[in-house]
Amino acid sequence: MNYSELMDKVEGFDENELNNFVSKVKDWALMHGIGMRSKNNFDENSLVVAPFTLFPSPIAKDCFNRAIRAQTLLNKLLHRLAYDPQFLDYALASVLEHDEFTRKLYEIYTEIRKTEPAQRISCGLFRCDYFLHSDGSLKQVEMNTISSSMSGLIHSLGYAHRYVIKQLGMDQHLNHIPVNLALSQLCQGLIEAWKLYSVKRAVIMFVVEDVTYNICDQRFMEFETQNLNSDVRIIRRSFNQLLEQAKLGENMELLVGKDEVAVIYYRWGYDPSHHTDETWSLRLMMEKSKAIKCPSIQYHLVGAKKVQQVLCFPGILEKYISNKEEVEMIRDLFVDIYPLDESPEGEEGYKLAMTQFNRFVLKPQREGGGNNIYGDDIPKHLRSISRKDAAAFILMGLIEPVPCKNILVKQDYVGKGDVVSELGIYGIIVGNENEIFVNEEAGHMLRSKLVSSREGGVAAGDGLLDSPYIV
Ligand code: ADP
Ligand code: MG
Ligand code: MG
Repeated sequence: MNYSELMDKVEGFDENELNNFVSKVKDWALMHGIGMRSKNNFDENSLVVAPFTLFPSPIAKDCFNRAIRAQTLLNKLLHRLAYDPQFLDYALASVLEHDEFTRKLYEIYTEIRKTEPAQRISCGLFRCDYFLHSDGSLKQVEMNTISSSMSGLIHSLGYAHRYVIKQLGMDQHLNHIPVNLALSQLCQGLIEAWKLYSVKRAVIMFVVEDVTYNICDQRFMEFETQNLNSDVRIIRRSFNQLLEQAKLGENMELLVGKDEVAVIYYRWGYDPSHHTDETWSLRLMMEKSKAIKCPSIQYHLVGAKKVQQVLCFPGILEKYISNKEEVEMIRDLFVDIYPLDESPEGEEGYKLAMTQFNRFVLKPQREGGGNNIYGDDIPKHLRSISRKDAAAFILMGLIEPVPCKNILVKQDYVGKGDVVSELGIYGIIVGNENEIFVNEEAGHMLRSKLVSSREGGVAAGDGLLDSPYIV
């Protein structure tokens, strides 16, 4: 079956036919919850359609399978690194002085290490992201350990794409869209953590922003968790609400109003702008509590871009993965990443950043999209800060995915374009320093963006939800 047949089919449409077709698909999408609150025109009684591609985008089968196979290894790797204080100390040392946000997280981590922890278990809903490089290899963009989003929307989008294919009378393409259980599997991860807490009346708490735009994604997780286990109650609280309502009980339970919290699921708190001095104290208090955190502070820290760079140093992977083939499999996913501190490797990175900037992307220790620096802005930026402060960044080799044609559908825009697609594989892990209770690959997501756009965050505004079409 040829992927291009899909595009060819609508090439035959006149403008009117295409607009009518897209209108219908948009209604399908909105009526199945592929929506968001409007950023320009917030109204809690309405949703606008989330940006998506009209067709699924092609992903090579062997790359897709490789990313899936890698996920449980990566879960375990991140878990082991997170539970090795010496590793975190070593990996993050050079950024702590120069990045206040990482330092604040690290202060919490240091503080909780001073006493016997009330809770040893961490819960991770991770997502590892990849591009298929132009040479056909699968290359990792990053590993997310906090607020890995979009499973709630991507779930329905797979069905939207199946609907499109059926409407075009091309059912023979349907089996190219793989089943995606991301939503239920991520929810299962939260449920497993909740069960380990072993207090039936205790709740799962979603920590959210004051105003949630990506509401469908979050609510679908809430609804699906309760659908899978009707004993679980879920509450949603913002930092501002928690500042008033949260306290520690006699046995370090986290109490929010009348509820004891079994699992804290952070959908907020991953960016400096989310925090004030008060919320940092709140995060410390919650971290000290007996609740199982998703993520715990050490899981949050291990998602730092700096950790990804340190993993590229020779010998590090071998320390945490005993099987040579597995080490090779993981190493193959990495592109070159340089530190920019004042070590010999950092000096080499700095020189490359100043002279060969078109081969790289400069990344700070941030999440949520829109923070990276590209091209000649790299030397410009490095010149604008001190040589020492460059240590807060990493320099990563650019991955160059091959573009493919698609039709972009947004709330107020429809148009053809060349897009590149970023594949995300979700993983769930629940464990403590001695034992891993759950370690699973948990479905996938695809996000596409125009080739001309630097970054493709869907919530940030540049990306479009997509599904893989396996070729
Ligand atoms: P964030 O945690 O903010 O999502 P990412 O590392 O995922 O940070 O970078 C944001 C976006 O920048 C990615 O979704 C991707 O589009 C682009 N990007 C990041 N790293 C690379 C890279 N090495 N090569 C090409 N594009 C990249
Ligand atoms: Mg990220
Ligand atoms: Mg990202």
